Amino acid sequence: MDIFRKCFEYTTAKEAIAQGYYPYFIPLAESEGTEVVYKGHRLIMCGSNNYLGLTTHPKVKEAACAALERFGTSCTGSRFLNGTLEMHEELERELARYVGKPAALVFSTGMQTNLGVISSLVSRADAVILDKEDHASIVDGARLGYGRMLRYRHNNAEDMRRLLRGLPDDTGRLIVVDGVFSMEGDLADLPKLLDVSEEFGARFMVDDAHGIGVTGRGRGTAAHYGLTDRVDLIMSTFSKSLASLGGFVAGEEDVIGYIKHHARALIFSASPTPASTASALAALRIMEAEPERVDRVIAHGEYMRAGLRALGFNIGNSVTPIVPIVVGDDQATFAAWRMLFDSGVFVNPVISPAVSPGRQLLRTSYMSTHTTEQLDRVLDIVGQVGRRLGLI
Ligand code: PMP
Repeated sequence: MDIFRKCFEYTTAKEAIAQGYYPYFIPLAESEGTEVVYKGHRLIMCGSNNYLGLTTHPKVKEAACAALERFGTSCTGSRFLNGTLEMHEELERELARYVGKPAALVFSTGMQTNLGVISSLVSRADAVILDKEDHASIVDGARLGYGRMLRYRHNNAEDMRRLLRGLPDDTGRLIVVDGVFSMEGDLADLPKLLDVSEEFGARFMVDDAHGIGVTGRGRGTAAHYGLTDRVDLIMSTFSKSLASLGGFVAGEEDVIGYIKHHARALIFSASPTPASTASALAALRIMEAEPERVDRVIAHGEYMRAGLRALGFNIGNSVTPIVPIVVGDDQATFAAWRMLFDSGVFVNPVISPAVSPGRQLLRTSYMSTHTTEQLDRVLDIVGQVGRRLGLI
């Protein structure tokens, strides 16, 4: 059997391209944050995670340029060996303080953070317990570990209790949840989940990729609930509000120290580039100094939720600037995406397995730098498309 056979037989993407309904890997010619250009066609960006609009902030760009000039283009090695700069450690100290934990560790992406953290903690005799809607990087981190992986119904503390109860008493338990769920913009029910977790002596980790810079006045979902001290580990990425590329985990010193010496995704991969590190640090400082940016992205989320709801769309349980438009069918989702794209609105179509069947949706997300005119134009166009397709 030729191992490549599946590649030659894989035609889904080619068929979608031929039919003009291929929404992935769209090469943009220009991006200035809230607007992008594809083959001369200008679109309002409602599909990025640049929540605070900091990727084009002059201070962030200046910091990246200065780091590039001073340190060159790459650290050419892992944090473990030659790839740690003083700046990486400075960023770790500031991130730890920002999220309210004693220590933090910087990885090269959020994906690698989840792979490294979860797989290094979950040994053969342990179990990792996940929400069914957790991000793929959490699932992959759990798969890389040698312990058991169990998954409970979305945000359902009782179902989590059922799983925890079924484990032998001497099993080490790690629960990992998205703080803000990446596709539907709803929040993890931390108060209930933590009560159950503590009943069973489990450790609790929040992936706040979409929470940092947004919830808890920027400090994340645990801060939003006032539960930072009860959450053991907070991880996040630099690729969203922090306007860069990289990731981190924060927690108590000994746990961070253990991960630092066991996470293969950290030890065997090159560190974030000087420019990436400097831009994350600059973005973090701006986020802290200008909380009005956070207030604005929250307000934009509210504005769009109210607008889309008033038009009659099903927007699920979103309470954040990630606002899904639930379509419920693959074909209709792609048709809506295409019509929006042609009309100048960039959104992300999401189908199974990224969402459960029946929850196929257009993921829309908003930035603090969108103007009210842009948001109104989006509502107008989305309304027209929704009516043409019978979604509203
Ligand atoms: N966790 C969540 C919830 C995410 O949405 C993402 C990115 N989409 C990641 C982790 C991975 O982050 P990164 O892009 O830095 O690899």
